Amino acid sequence: MNETPMRARAAVDLAALRANVRALRERAPRAELMAVVKSDAYGHGAVPCARAAREAGASWLGTATPQEALTLRAAGDTGRLMCWLWTPGGPWQEAIAADIDVSVSGMWALREAVAGAQAAGRTARVQLKADTGLGRNGCQPGDWADLVAAARKAEAAGTIKVTGLWSHFACADEPGHPSIAAQLAAYRQMLAQAEAAGIAPEVRHIANSPATLTLPESHFDLVRSGIAVYGISPSPQVGASADFGLRPAMTLSASLALVKRVPGGHGVSYGHRYHTPGDTTLALVPVGYADGVPRAASDSGPVLVAGKLRTIAGRVAMDQFVVDLGGDQAAEGDEAVLFGPGDRGEPTAEDWAQSVGTIAYEIVTRIGQRVPRVYL
Ligand code: PLP
Repeated sequence: MNETPMRARAAVDLAALRANVRALRERAPRAELMAVVKSDAYGHGAVPCARAAREAGASWLGTATPQEALTLRAAGDTGRLMCWLWTPGGPWQEAIAADIDVSVSGMWALREAVAGAQAAGRTARVQLKADTGLGRNGCQPGDWADLVAAARKAEAAGTIKVTGLWSHFACADEPGHPSIAAQLAAYRQMLAQAEAAGIAPEVRHIANSPATLTLPESHFDLVRSGIAVYGISPSPQVGASADFGLRPAMTLSASLALVKRVPGGHGVSYGHRYHTPGDTTLALVPVGYADGVPRAASDSGPVLVAGKLRTIAGRVAMDQFVVDLGGDQAAEGDEAVLFGPGDRGEPTAEDWAQSVGTIAYEIVTRIGQRVPRVYL
């Protein structure tokens, strides 16, 4: 599927990623660090990023789907590893046999974990997830006592061991949001309730990247950091990545496919939403929405070409877009940088997010499989 790196590449600086992991560990010195490597490590490539995160001291890895966790095991990862997004009939037996911690948010999942443990002939490592206010996955406070009691019973039978009690924030990327304190209070209550019922977890955790960076009282035994591992700030409200000693690991660039002179009034790309204001030079950048460049960046996305920050001219197409170089020169094969750490004057993924009204998570995660990842 991957093609020659000459067209486009997402270069991933693994030294930067390792330094980010170390910086996060310094932020949460009493907690273990789980590097969240779901969605192909937020588009950066799960296996190389998982290895680099381990090298820098991530004692845990986290994924959403069990398939993602099993892929890491197949690639040779042997450390603590947890996955949390299960659906009925999922690969419980395989995950349990592979020593993966499985998250359980309700009775149906506990039943499947127990059955998976019996089939695997192993004690399943189960982490109970509480919904402390996110309103997404996790057990509601009103159902928590029943889930905890059922888990205790399965522990007594030897089919499971509850290794973790955990939750997830809704608004940690908006420091000071009232839901943060409310969720922490609910989490403490649900912990106390489970512990009073006899659960003795190895790890208690609720902090994602923004909480790792800004909320020490949320660190407990473990922090689960995703976006910050890749050097990106969770939100402008949290601050700039550099404020926390983080450096974006990914640089997305492409080689100009064509440079040509055109007269004034020339319509550019589908829909002719851009017309050249006068005689000018157009450069063709051979990446498009199939590669993860948002179509919403038509007429607005930033890109560094020929030493200057430019704006995409006209529509982003599936495989390409155009930049108007005005009176500047460039040649086929010259590099166009869509985003990177920003120190060469290129935009960052956060700049892209702002320009299309999304979050940087989406920008990096959606870089397509057609773009080869190159590791530095
Ligand atoms: N924990 C869970 C359950 C998640 O779903 C995610 C990502 O969305 C994370 C942790 C990591 O979040 P972040 O990338 O903000 O650190």
